[in-house]
Amino acid sequence: MRLQPSFDERLLRESVARLAGEFGAEYFMEKTRAREPVTELWKKLGDNGYLGAFLPTEYGGGGQGIWSLAIVSEELAAAGCPMFPLIYSAAIVSNVLARHGSQEQKDTWLPKLAAGEAKIAFAITEPDAGSNSHNLSTVARRTGDKYVINGRKTFISGVDSADAILVVARTGTDEKTGKGLLSLFLVDPDAPGLEHTYVPTAVNAPEGQWMLFFDGVEVDADQLIGTQDKGLRIVFEGLNPERILGATLSTGLARYALNKAVSYVKDRQVWGVPIATHQAVAHPLAKAKIELDLAGLMMRKAAALYDAGSPEAGEAANMAKYAAGEAGIHCVDAAIQVHGGNGVALEYGLTDVWWLARFTKIGPVSAEMVLNYVSEHTLGLPKSY
Ligand SMILES: Cc1cc2nc3c(=O)[nH]c(=O)nc-3n(C[C@H](O)[C@H](O)[C@H](O)COP(=O)(O)OP(=O)(O)OC[C@H]3O[C@@H](n4cnc5c(N)ncnc54)[C@H](O)[C@@H]3O)c2cc1C
Repeated sequence: MRLQPSFDERLLRESVARLAGEFGAEYFMEKTRAREPVTELWKKLGDNGYLGAFLPTEYGGGGQGIWSLAIVSEELAAAGCPMFPLIYSAAIVSNVLARHGSQEQKDTWLPKLAAGEAKIAFAITEPDAGSNSHNLSTVARRTGDKYVINGRKTFISGVDSADAILVVARTGTDEKTGKGLLSLFLVDPDAPGLEHTYVPTAVNAPEGQWMLFFDGVEVDADQLIGTQDKGLRIVFEGLNPERILGATLSTGLARYALNKAVSYVKDRQVWGVPIATHQAVAHPLAKAKIELDLAGLMMRKAAALYDAGSPEAGEAANMAKYAAGEAGIHCVDAAIQVHGGNGVALEYGLTDVWWLARFTKIGPVSAEMVLNYVSEHTLGLPKSY
């Protein structure tokens, strides 16, 4: 694992930061308020090869590791453009299709995903089965050459701007354990019987979250990804990219907030000197910066282990996600505090990122589920659930 960024890495960071800067937080918030996708930005990311960085070259991707996509995501968030679709479409779904899709599925989707011409949403969470995927109740039943899906999903990001939805559904139950046997399907968002309704949240992101209702939705059998009943393994494989990319939202927003805070405290004077002169102002920012860099180190380690195919990637990705979530919320909180009343004034832009930074402790995987993982797998403690 390199600790010094390579020339290519530095170049990628600078190029993405420049592109993100052309759009910036104002553009992102305008789109968020209008509930419109950031189509222009997405297209430019595709044109520059950033969205397919992690995809095989034969499908128009860059053939790079997860770290390159992580850099893209962190730089965007640091410029005030935190992008959920980089997690669900560019990291999770693209990776699932590249590894487990049929030749036809890969040929149909991967070049478009790499070019920014398509986005695919990812639907696993259900009202009664969030952290516990074994308990999913959305069912897909095979009838002839079709599957028929019934059930509900909630909090699914970007449904209205998705070209397809990767749906995780139960196709059976393991008789020994009683746990669900899961399968993955590519579903047309406009399929008859599929309705979606908006779920208002305080998280500022243009994609928004949606509840999905499946009422006898028919899917051709060739839209199954991989093997029927073996979907859980595929989902678990996708968790490490999800955790590493999830961590980049936290650290990117942390940098966004910290940059604002540093320039504010150097400028603002209330007792005749810049408030940065007071340690009570400077130290929380310094502490937040240390946490941020520690999280960054663990993210780099997780990405290196993942790209090397190491079995230790899971532990590192979980720890990175946890550390980044904590660093993110502490940086944004410290930035708000040193802004005084301006910390909650809308014009300073910190309230725009607060709830997303807070959410990264809950999803895509919650801090508690990470602690469960480390308790059980790292420390060898009994499974608690
Ligand atoms: C903005 C946003 C975007 C999202 N985007 C998507 C998306 O695109 N696709 C998708 O499928 N989902 C999405 N989600 C859902 C998100 O992944 C879940 O909210 C998250 O995984 C937590 O699940 P839950 O809300 O059902 O919480 P629950 O599972 O109900 O958990 C509630 C709390 O209890 C804790 N808890 C539960 N079980 C245990 C246990 N065994 N031990 C310790 N603590 C436990 C959890 O950590 C959590 O703090 C999104 C959610 C939001 C808010």
